[in-house]
Amino acid sequence: MQLDQRSSSSRREVLRYAGAAAAALAVGSSAGAVAAAVNAADRKRVLRIAHLTDVHVQPELHGDHGLAACLHHVQEHARPDLIIGTGDSIMDSMETAEDRVKMLWGLWQRVWKAECSLPAEHCIGNHDVWGIHKAASKSTGTEPLYGKKWVMSLHGWDRPYRSFGRAGWHFIALDSITHLEDDYLGRLDDRQFEWLVDDLSRVDARTPVLVFSHIPLFSAAAFLDGQHEKAHQWRVPASIMHIDARRVKDLFRKHPNVKLCLSGHLHLVERVDYLGVSYLCNGAVSGGWWKADHQECQPGYGVIDLYADGTFESKHVLYGWKYAEA
Ligand SMILES: [Zn+2]
Repeated sequence: MQLDQRSSSSRREVLRYAGAAAAALAVGSSAGAVAAAVNAADRKRVLRIAHLTDVHVQPELHGDHGLAACLHHVQEHARPDLIIGTGDSIMDSMETAEDRVKMLWGLWQRVWKAECSLPAEHCIGNHDVWGIHKAASKSTGTEPLYGKKWVMSLHGWDRPYRSFGRAGWHFIALDSITHLEDDYLGRLDDRQFEWLVDDLSRVDARTPVLVFSHIPLFSAAAFLDGQHEKAHQWRVPASIMHIDARRVKDLFRKHPNVKLCLSGHLHLVERVDYLGVSYLCNGAVSGGWWKADHQECQPGYGVIDLYADGTFESKHVLYGWKYAEA
């Protein structure tokens, strides 16, 4: 029964392609245009994503109005099916005392509730982890909401990474932040890496996979963030790009259905294609932390169309934010 359905659907596909090719030929197009027509007929958009990262919401410099403006723009212009947020949602909780962190998360929740009716999936950024710097945050490490527990309880997560399916794609939300004493680095701890190995092994090889993390798994722009020239050497800190990039890359090589990785953290816009995987860093909603552009990065977000055949198209969109006078 299944075989019959498949063969009749592939016959229909062939007829559809033939029709598209004939239409292209009828207007005197080149062989390339025929191929493009066939490809276009083959591609079915299944999901549109708006990728918002590094909002760093705060009342200062109208950061809360900035998030609202971005959410309005997303809903009016991009009209996605889903928003993916890759962390650093609030200005800071790494070195900020409990009362202010409470205020910032309250602000975050109020703006989303009031201004956005779309479903959203988030992952954790370094600034979302409360008390990484204990002295500055006046935390002891024993508080019920210490570390990642605050952001996890807010989202109702029982662990800081997870996966889910949507529109024929498999989505993996990673936790980039390895929390050290008074510091952090971009790395999946061994437990999470084992979970990722297992999760990918359970995904059908024909199902395309989108991975999202706060810190880029792989980045070229990371080389342009810092004072390498003065130091006379290229040195990308483990807090800027995943230090375990090599083992993640080796794992992805075993799963060619991993197509796309989204991240933030750098406040830079880039796309790196490497060994069949595209790595997109989509700037920052806050630009340069609501003060000014960060290098060439203006306040914006990514729009990504996912197709049934595992391909995607993406663009970075500015939502027209004008920085407030400091
Ligand atoms: Zn960050």
